[in-house]
Amino acid sequence: MAAKYRILIVEDDRSISNMIKAVLETNNYIVLYAHNGTEAAFIAENHCPDLMLLDLGLPDTDGTELIKSVRQWSAMPIIVVSARTHESDKIAALDMGADDYVTKPFGTGELLARIRTALRHGGTFSSQNDIKQSGKYAVGGLVIDYDRYRVYIDGNDAKFTQNEFKIIAFLGRYAGKVMTYDAIIKSIWGPNANTDNQILRVNMANIRRKIEKCPAHPEYIFTEVGIGYRLADEDSFNEAHQK
Ligand code: CA
Repeated sequence: MAAKYRILIVEDDRSISNMIKAVLETNNYIVLYAHNGTEAAFIAENHCPDLMLLDLGLPDTDGTELIKSVRQWSAMPIIVVSARTHESDKIAALDMGADDYVTKPFGTGELLARIRTALRHGGTFSSQNDIKQSGKYAVGGLVIDYDRYRVYIDGNDAKFTQNEFKIIAFLGRYAGKVMTYDAIIKSIWGPNANTDNQILRVNMANIRRKIEKCPAHPEYIFTEVGIGYRLADEDSFNEAHQK
């Protein structure tokens, strides 16, 4: 039998943590539990969980502070599970080093899918390792060829411009993870770039036209409204195509 993953739930609301715990245990995860930031930091340091599900509104601290402190010593995947729906909260958590963000209320299927993706990346970004080995990132009919600076869709050259290639190459390195507009813009146009999203949006519209059959129902690049973009990884692509 495969080794079980250990997941730390950081949540002060017992009804929510009990619900998540039941779902995780049914799906063969070992559950650790903390109801405030102090306990969470102690358990994270002493029991080294494989993943953390983190509520932001904790009685003794803000969850973003915990992300900051854990990131000083660990790359363990952190998924924020929060009732805060403000884009600025999501962006702050992701930029602080969270891997993903799930808004309450959420479906258990969605939570489990996000957990699987985050665990596969294991804080080290498997897609990045795949790219190092093969020089390519492939999902569905999409291939990003990092050696030739080309993108292929269903075997045909999608004829990307230089900036379009840079954008999809960046998303490909972090496939499955939401990248904020700011992070994408900085990676393409440098740290002093004007953080106006307009140029990025124009480029993204062109990218979608080149690779998506129907840009209104994307298969490859997903918009997290007000936050950024996520490139499909194998798991999310396969799930979308099973439906
Ligand atoms: Ca709370």
